[in-house]
Amino acid sequence: MMTSDVDNDGGWRWLKSTRQLQQSSFGVDYIMLTGDKLSEYLVHNGFALVAELIEAFQEVQWKNWANNRGSLNRDAMAGELIDTAHFLANIAVAIGMDDEEWERLYREKQERNRVRQSLKTGYDAKSTKCPGCRRELDKPGAMVLVRSERSRMMVRCSYCDQSLGMVGGSEIYWQAGVFVPGVTSAMLFISEQADG
Ligand SMILES: [Zn+2]
Repeated sequence: MMTSDVDNDGGWRWLKSTRQLQQSSFGVDYIMLTGDKLSEYLVHNGFALVAELIEAFQEVQWKNWANNRGSLNRDAMAGELIDTAHFLANIAVAIGMDDEEWERLYREKQERNRVRQSLKTGYDAKSTKCPGCRRELDKPGAMVLVRSERSRMMVRCSYCDQSLGMVGGSEIYWQAGVFVPGVTSAMLFISEQADG
């Protein structure tokens, strides 16, 4: 069977498996987990998460008044971080997140950090300026959506028609050298083309 189900290759998924475990072993009923019940669940898991995080940091000697400062019980800390992740996953699943959303948001964050850092250092070639006309792309109306012959929605420069990226789902896949943080395809106008 050709589906995109990640389980087909036996792949373990963090939030999916968490959801299954919470349902089958802890009897969590996600349908009923709303309102006050949800708040209580989130707070309990949040408190447990913080407690585990503190346990994790007991494995590194962080006290600057201690003689053995900097000593690290690496494997024990790794185990505590897993405990932390367990509660973090519970919280994420309880508010309806799945692995796809987690990875998408996480990767967007990483990309924002990467770009922010590269803008700071000037090291990276990625830019919020159009490679064609050098105009700033993070201004309203600077970019438009155009439907390609193959019915893909393309992002183009409003001024010089330079191709800037492609829309896939709710994401924009920027061309090499281009990245405009915080812009989604929903924010862009569709440019009507005569050739249809
Ligand atoms: Zn341009």
